[in-house]
Amino acid sequence: MSEQATSSGSLFLVVAPSGAGKSSLVNALLEQEPSIKLSISYTTRPPRPNDQHGREYFFTTVEDFIARRNAGEFLESAEVFGNYYGTSRVQIAEQMATGVDVLLEIDWQGAQQVKKQFPHAVGIFILPPSIAALEERLKKRGQDDHDVITRRILAAGGEIAHASEFEYVIINQEFTVALAELSAIVKATRCRFAQQSTRNASLFAQLGIHANLS
Ligand code: 5GP
Repeated sequence: MSEQATSSGSLFLVVAPSGAGKSSLVNALLEQEPSIKLSISYTTRPPRPNDQHGREYFFTTVEDFIARRNAGEFLESAEVFGNYYGTSRVQIAEQMATGVDVLLEIDWQGAQQVKKQFPHAVGIFILPPSIAALEERLKKRGQDDHDVITRRILAAGGEIAHASEFEYVIINQEFTVALAELSAIVKATRCRFAQQSTRNASLFAQLGIHANLS
């Protein structure tokens, strides 16, 4: 049975190269749609000045991360820019069981792993309008040192090469347009037969509509 037959919630995977404006877009979406739950990942990356443990990430040591990974605690995990990142399997299972929409902000490697387990997960790739815009955003952010920024710019091409693996692509040129597109994807996904028929099971029964979910 697919995950959609058991829960009316959808799983959104939002992927982008650093500096494409992914977090700002996701945060704005969550303000508009507070019912969407953002998965909080584990990472071995040191916290940035404004990062809060349990809000942006669960910050942990390499030893703790590896122990959790070996214990099968992660739905997916990957090494990105020399740090480990992973999504808690239990957290996602608990959120999905309640039927809410869940959003993962992860990299392309993690998205591939999740897609294998949840083929109906909705993949959204966010592109910058140009490489120059990406560079500028990374420098302006001022949260990382020079070497980290250089590494992230160099890695952007590798991440972008995976855009074709995603159902949806948003070009973040105008923030408000990109946000409206992201919101439209969420709304369209909620209208999928599988979601509607589970969320409105009694109406569908009354109307004699039978789900044919594979
Ligand atoms: P940052 O350090 O800038 O917060 O994130 C660096 C990269 O790691 C981003 O591409 C981000 O999406 C990705 N990332 C964050 N959390 C996870 C996770 O749980 N799994 C995977 N695979 N990637 C993650």
